Amino acid sequence: MPSPSIVWFRDDLRLADHPALRAAIDRDEPIVGLYVLDEESRDIRPLGGAARWWLHHSLASLEERLRERGGRLILRRGPADRIVRETAADLGAGAVFWNRRYGGPERDIDAGLKQSLRDDGIEVRSFAGSLLFEPWTITTGAGTHFSVYSPFWRACLAQPAPRSPLPEPRKIQGPSRTPASDDLADWDLLPTEPDWAEGLRETWEPGEPAARRRLREFLRDDVDSYDRARDRPSAGATSLLSPRLRWGELSPHTIWHASIESGDSSGFLSELGWREFAWHTLFHFPDLATKNLRSEFDAFPWPRLSPAALRAWQRGRTGFPIVDAGMRELWRTGYMHNRVRMITASFLIKNLMIDWRRGEEWFWDTLVDADAANNPFNWQWVAGSGADAAPYFRIFNPELQAKKFDAEGHYVGEWAPEYRAEDGQPPQPIVDLGATRKDALAAYEKVKQAS
Ligand code: FAD
Repeated sequence: MPSPSIVWFRDDLRLADHPALRAAIDRDEPIVGLYVLDEESRDIRPLGGAARWWLHHSLASLEERLRERGGRLILRRGPADRIVRETAADLGAGAVFWNRRYGGPERDIDAGLKQSLRDDGIEVRSFAGSLLFEPWTITTGAGTHFSVYSPFWRACLAQPAPRSPLPEPRKIQGPSRTPASDDLADWDLLPTEPDWAEGLRETWEPGEPAARRRLREFLRDDVDSYDRARDRPSAGATSLLSPRLRWGELSPHTIWHASIESGDSSGFLSELGWREFAWHTLFHFPDLATKNLRSEFDAFPWPRLSPAALRAWQRGRTGFPIVDAGMRELWRTGYMHNRVRMITASFLIKNLMIDWRRGEEWFWDTLVDADAANNPFNWQWVAGSGADAAPYFRIFNPELQAKKFDAEGHYVGEWAPEYRAEDGQPPQPIVDLGATRKDALAAYEKVKQAS
């Protein structure tokens, strides 16, 4: 009797460079791919709306690609520890393989499952597939984790180079009978009433084939101007690979090697280093999305939340053109350029004096690349409470930022055109930049006293 291998797909929705899938193929038994929508396990953060949209389409693409090669993907919903164990029992599986995750609650679930599946007599193996360097392998001379990026990245680069990507399998041996699966449509991942996803559909094609195309195009057409133009939001100079990495449609190893083979010598790969740094930080601080990394920031005297100000920011109606353009790009496309993410975040925290966690939550809900490490890490970076963070007293002035990085106003013209139209009627500024800057600096004194 065959004893199928289950490959448990998580944030690695691809066939190429998938170590768990490769190991299952080498085991030479039928393979069943499994995806579990876990909305029940304690402390697993529920996906935001834009992420759910992406997940739907990326799963549909993965399912099709597995099927084309002879394999199957089955979908099940519920607490992962119970569902994986039940599925393994249903199928009489001999092995369950997965690529590792690095969030706290996810690691707890995976460790528990490893034990219980082994107790059931099933072979369980986990693999490194989502980060270039395993978090426990990068330590300071004193054996602790890094809190500053440059020495962190130097330590990474001093390691043996990331392994070469594994080839995409051409044939996969599927099970003789297709096991029961949920219907993807029944998961209601797509918005219906209202259907706000039009801008997402226009902007993105989720799935591994489009991800690989974009990587090729970027390295062929854009990477040469990356260093020069990456800070200009209308330049189209960045890779747009963040949702691909978030969902694992591309592995960082694939990007790493493709970039090196293309002769790229820009700073692009060091941005992958920031992703590593954010994930290593989350590994050591599982509460990154809710707790200040630097605890002296707990003393920051956040004023009572103004729901109207938060809403004006969310909707792109603050009266500051580049802030509004960014927030509308986000709402429409599920993406915002990095420079504008920094400007809008700084504005929320330091001009509206709204707790960074409220901004982090909004991005979590609206970004297609909403990432459990990168998002809170960067919010804390802007707030000043994070690892190697911008000092709190560095307050972006959105008007000067716009002059510097959107000098011709192309970005604002695209996303908030009423600011540029002769007869446009833009929103009026909801705060005074100078006065709020002063208030923020005064509030920051409390943090200084606490440190
Ligand atoms: P590129 O410039 O082409 O960079 C290549 C890759 O490097 C990116 O795809 C990303 O994986 C990684 N990277 C680049 N910059 C950073 C960074 N600062 N931190 C960590 N990794 C980075 N990125 C996310 O992937 N998900 C998020 O939820 C997220 N939230 C953010 C919130 C705020 C407030 C800020 C300031 C930044 C956030 N970022 C986030 C980081 C960054 O803005 C995006 O990764 C980047 O804009 C994605 O565009 P790109 O793929 O074209 O980037």
